[in-house]
Amino acid sequence: MEHKAEIISVGTELLLGNIVNTDAADVAAVLSELGINTYYHTVVGDNPERLQAAVDIAKSRADIIITTGGLGPTCDDLTKQTLAAAFGKELVFHPEEEEKIRAYFDKIGRGMTDNNLRQAELPEGCTILENTCGTAPGCAFEADGCHVVMLPGPPRELRAMLRGAAMPYLRKLSGAQLYSKNIMIFGMGESAVEDKLRELMNSLENPTLAPYAKTGEVRLRVTAKAQSEAEAEAMMSPVIEKVYEAVGEYIYGINVPSLEAAVFALLKERGLTFSCAESCTGGLIAKRMTDVPGASAVFRGGVVSYASEVKADVLGVPAEMLAEHGAVSEPVARAMAEGARRLMKADIAVSTTGVAGPDRDERGNEVGTVYVALAAEGVTICKKLSCGNDRDRVRTVAAHNAFDMVRRHLR
Ligand code: ATP
Ligand code: MG
Repeated sequence: MEHKAEIISVGTELLLGNIVNTDAADVAAVLSELGINTYYHTVVGDNPERLQAAVDIAKSRADIIITTGGLGPTCDDLTKQTLAAAFGKELVFHPEEEEKIRAYFDKIGRGMTDNNLRQAELPEGCTILENTCGTAPGCAFEADGCHVVMLPGPPRELRAMLRGAAMPYLRKLSGAQLYSKNIMIFGMGESAVEDKLRELMNSLENPTLAPYAKTGEVRLRVTAKAQSEAEAEAMMSPVIEKVYEAVGEYIYGINVPSLEAAVFALLKERGLTFSCAESCTGGLIAKRMTDVPGASAVFRGGVVSYASEVKADVLGVPAEMLAEHGAVSEPVARAMAEGARRLMKADIAVSTTGVAGPDRDERGNEVGTVYVALAAEGVTICKKLSCGNDRDRVRTVAAHNAFDMVRRHLR
């Protein structure tokens, strides 16, 4: 059965904009993971009449109501009372919860005030959801064809209870779960990807296929709603195949965290080593390569050759070449990559030289002009890029391209 969930966040602070409703976002993410549709997020202040009214509305349009906040001991904490009343349930005192609350205060070495005992009062017949980070227990019950789950407000407590006690409870309700895979794409814009795949995306219901753009990259997420991982796998694999048929050349991996991780895996598989000579990327390629755990198996090192003299003296780029073509040029990019390969005794080396901005260089190269080169046994290749005029973006895109050149070379 398809469930419809509504999240009701209780708290005047939320209405006033004093705090951001991260609890609702956390709950919504878990519901989506479980394949439960969330149709409404409601925020209501610490006011029993308006909370009651919000619950009545939620009851009319949802069969799973999840509340956040207002479970604590103070008089503005009225979620339990209001929800119990809305569903015709009494609050009953739980001596074993009192014990837990007393034990918690003993542990943190603070005296307990009597109002804390209100937290041991819970709707009759409910499932108690343990609070591993605080005192107020959560609870869940079913009444009038509706499942009600109440969670505490403090985000740390909410997250722990959500993943700990609430998720298993909700999983039993949902039956199906969402499974997803990320197809990682580089070298094609989001709109181009969408254009190629629009028909396929529109024709799909389960699994679904949706694109997400990141700087210079596109992630296509395939999501299947299924009873088991094996079933989801069987549903997703024909879709992934179709995506490969359409844009396979640009796919650098499935569920791989980054281009550099894909390159690392390829290098390692072939037993090859890698080095780099960087000008405009200022060490970003080396940094990203060494972000990958185990990088030492393939990465020899990098030179950040910002000044022309360093390009010449360290990497062996001929001074005449620098004088004739300028530092931002194809011959220099090639010589840098070859120099890095020779100097650091690597199988494959890449280089970047370009204008990161904010101003064009003395030879009039536009901001964002970058040459990326790759040198390997017997070949050197070079690519000229226009990466736009944002300094960070220029560097990110240049580094992406360097890694992608290695990937394409090894493929
Ligand atoms: P306590 O036992 O601390 O009183 P509670 O369950 O009664 O917890 P609230 O009193 O509603 O929860 O909120 C406690 C604190 O938790 C708030 O001051 C706020 O910092 C945080 N909080 C509450 N609701 C949310 C929310 N929806 N998103 C993020 N933070 C929240
Ligand atoms: Mg409170």
